[in-house]
Parts: sequence; C-alpha cells; structure tokens
Amino acid sequence: MQILIIGGAGYIGSHMVQLARRAGFAVVVLDDLSSGHADALHNVELVVGSLADRALLDDLFTRYRFAAVMHFASFIQVGESVKEPSKYYANNLSATLNLLDAMRKADVASLIFSSTAAVYGNPDYHPIDEAHPKQPINPYGRSKWMVEQILEDYDRAYGLKSICLRYFNAAGADPTGSLGERHLPETHLIPLVLQAAAGRSSHIAVFGTDFDTPDGTCIRDYIHVVDLCDAHLLALQHLLATRQSARYNLGNGEGYSVQQVIDTARQVTGREIRVRNEARRAGDPARLVANAHRVRHELGWKPCRAALATIIADAWQWERKYPWIVAPA
Ligand code: UDP
Repeated sequence: MQILIIGGAGYIGSHMVQLARRAGFAVVVLDDLSSGHADALHNVELVVGSLADRALLDDLFTRYRFAAVMHFASFIQVGESVKEPSKYYANNLSATLNLLDAMRKADVASLIFSSTAAVYGNPDYHPIDEAHPKQPINPYGRSKWMVEQILEDYDRAYGLKSICLRYFNAAGADPTGSLGERHLPETHLIPLVLQAAAGRSSHIAVFGTDFDTPDGTCIRDYIHVVDLCDAHLLALQHLLATRQSARYNLGNGEGYSVQQVIDTARQVTGREIRVRNEARRAGDPARLVANAHRVRHELGWKPCRAALATIIADAWQWERKYPWIVAPA
C-alpha cells in the first residue's frame, strides 16, 4: 500500500518514513527541504517541492495511487509565529488547504495530521484531555486549530477522513543512532541541553524560574519520537480500517520541569551542564501535561521509551554521533 509522507525529511517525518516502510508501506516523500535533510532518507523516493504548488500536487496524485497522506510539514516556532504570522498562515494553513483540495480532487480520503498541544493555549485544568477548550494563544497554535476545524468540515462535506494527533513535546532519537533532531537553528530544550553537555555551547539558558511550579521552571510532557511514530502508525492503520475521523493527544501523562530535564541530562551524560537563568519566553504556559487515555484505549498505543532518562539517552547518542551538526553562526 502506497502512502505520501509530506515533510518526511524532517525530524519526526524521517522517523515515520523508517517505521512505515518497516510496517510494509511503500512510501513517497514530498519535502521542500526548507528544514528537512535529504540525507535522512535512504532508498526512498523524494519529491522536492512545495505544498503550495498545486500543479505539483495534482501531478503527484495522478502518478501515484496513495491510500493515505501523512502531513508533517509545518513551521513550528511559536515565537517566530508571533513575529511573522503571515509565514505561518501561508504554510500551515493555506498550503494545507491546497493539499486538502488536491486530495479531494484525486479521491484520496485519508489524512494523518500533525497537530499540537498549542491548540489548548493556557490550560484550564490538568492533565489536558481532548475535550479541553481550544483557546490557542499564538498564530502557530491557531493555524493548527484552524486546520483541525477545516478537517471537520471536509469530513462532513466531502468524506475526507482524518486523524489529528496533538503532540506534546516530541524529543529523543532513533535508538540505533541512525536518525535524530537537526533543527537549524535549534530551539528545543533537550537538544540544547545536550549541546551544552557536549561543549558545543557554553550553557543552557533557562527561560523563567518564577513559574507557579515546584521548582519555578516550566513543566512539559516529553514523548519519545519513536513512541510518537508508533502512535501514527496505529492511527494510519485504524483510519484505513475503520474510516473514522478522530483526534488524540500524544504525551506520556508525566510532566518534568526544565530543571529536572537538566538534572537528568547531567546524570545520563556524566557531563557538567552550565545554566544561566533568563527571563520567561513569551507565551510559555507554566505546565502542559497530556491526558492520553483516549489513544491508549482506542488505538492500543503503549509507549515503550517513556522514561525521561531513555529519551535523553537516545538524544545524547545522536548528539555524540553527529558532532558536525553545528548551527551556522
Ligand atoms: N526552554 C528553556 N531554554 C531553552 C529552550 C527551551 O528553558 O533554551 C524551556 C521553554 O521555555 C519551555 C521548555 O523548555 O518551558 C520546552 O521548550 P521547547 O522549546 O523545547 O518546547 P515547547 O514547549 O515550546 O514546545
């Protein structure tokens, strides 16, 4: 069975390509390589191009008979989305709409969509379940929530079925060390902490120590990229088998503070990690922890690499294997 993985050269997408192929799917990747890396793909057909290019999409959907599409291609930096909302609405919303219409025309009626915990905004209660009010507080979260709503309309009107997966904090790397996170510039906590451990940066900046949490730093729910992709595979199989749209949170249901992440990284790496306390980053909620019972119950998802030390150890292996991945100055 053939599937299209959009953004398959990126961090999560490349792990998904590997897993989908192991599960027996024939995979074609569409990626504009704006942040992905062609060398993350091995013996996979890569089409380099933009989701905004309708002619390219129509051509792709004519050449292949895809059973489903998985869509990982979006801009993900909250701060940037506040400064440049146009970039986020153009790519995350408008280009995605282009994709939906190309799928509709080609009669491809199954989509796995990467959504985010940012659709919940500042949470009213914890842990956050899927019924929690959607009140995104930045253009990134709003762009994802708008697509989720559009998908409901497209389901009702055109029968386009989708599973939206609301990620909490994806982290870690393939345990064999063959794939990992390579954002340029890197903004995520765990890879930045490990860059400090490796001596590639002088310290880790902690954004805020005055939150209403036990140690004053922000709490997040970190989920291993391999577990995240397992959930995508289950979602894909479920969607193809049942033709039922659904929305699921993806997290472990355990929150760790920035301080706990740094302490665990010190233990895992045995390295000194220097810290500098800085001001809060705009738009960071104090705590984001998932209630992921629905995906466990309905899809039978069971994370295998949930421990924070495992997530950090796998990311550390990648960091050490690829010391050449240095952000340009
Ligand atoms: N963070 C930090 N220093 C950094 C990067 C992130 O203190 O250099 C904090 C950030 O404020 C948040 C947590 O780490 O509380 C996770 O941030 P990340 O950017 O990894 O993911 P997000 O939660 O924004 O999706």
